[in-house]
Amino acid sequence: MSSTTQTRHDLHGRYPEARSVEDFQRNLAAVHTRIKAACCRAGRDPASVRLLPVSKTKPEPSLRLAYAAGCRTLGENKPQEACRKWEAMQDLTDLHWSVIGHLQTNKARLVARFASEFQALDSLHVAEALDRRLQIEGRGLDVFVQVNTSGEASKYGLTPEEVPAFLQALPVFSALRVRGLMTLALFSSEAERVRQCFVRLRALRDRLRQCAPAGIGLDELSMGMSGDFEIAIEEGATVVRVGQAIFGARAMPDGHYWPGEPKLEES
Ligand SMILES: *Cc1c(COP(=O)(O)O)cnc(C)c1O
Repeated sequence: MSSTTQTRHDLHGRYPEARSVEDFQRNLAAVHTRIKAACCRAGRDPASVRLLPVSKTKPEPSLRLAYAAGCRTLGENKPQEACRKWEAMQDLTDLHWSVIGHLQTNKARLVARFASEFQALDSLHVAEALDRRLQIEGRGLDVFVQVNTSGEASKYGLTPEEVPAFLQALPVFSALRVRGLMTLALFSSEAERVRQCFVRLRALRDRLRQCAPAGIGLDELSMGMSGDFEIAIEEGATVVRVGQAIFGARAMPDGHYWPGEPKLEES
């Protein structure tokens, strides 16, 4: 694919705060334009890429503006924060929640209550806890298996080698609808190293397709965020998770997610 596409991590922390419905509409339009351009370069149909707006750390009024601008699913990385926002916005009956961050077993109960999607599955304990609660609630949940494609000493995500056996163990959890794989690329301005993370996820998915158990879907590849989603789309992303380019820069550092990046402090 086009190897000239650069990351936009230089913009990280510089997107202006969206403060009105018009701001959100403009930002969403700009992101959709970037998505279309990347699809065009890759010979892909823009309808094959879903934009997941990520509202983590942003306050409720900001989420309501995003809703007014047309967002119907919001991504949150912390289960408690997400649950709090869900409770406060129950009046928006067609607003759905995607939990995109690491989950501890003892928080599975929360997520089973309100989430329609969970993108960071990386342990059988969590799968079991989610499934048990979902069965009680009579709900199902779309899930993505999180893979660590950067090789960083990140705590989160399975290594690519662990994924085949993990998938074999998932069909017993009948409330979990496995849709595909998710990854966070290396947080780097070196576009080729970022691209390799996305290539690794797609290649893994393509290999796993031959041997995945019945009922385990691998159509979806959730990869790419504000700084690198064009590259992810060029490499096959079907879901891009975009926060700052829609909501504006976050005040808090993201070092937590990118342990390899010395410039970003631990949050
Ligand atoms: C915060 C976050 C994103 C979005 O990052 P932006 O830089 O705001 O676009 C994507 N994925 C995950 C897992 C995140 O935690």
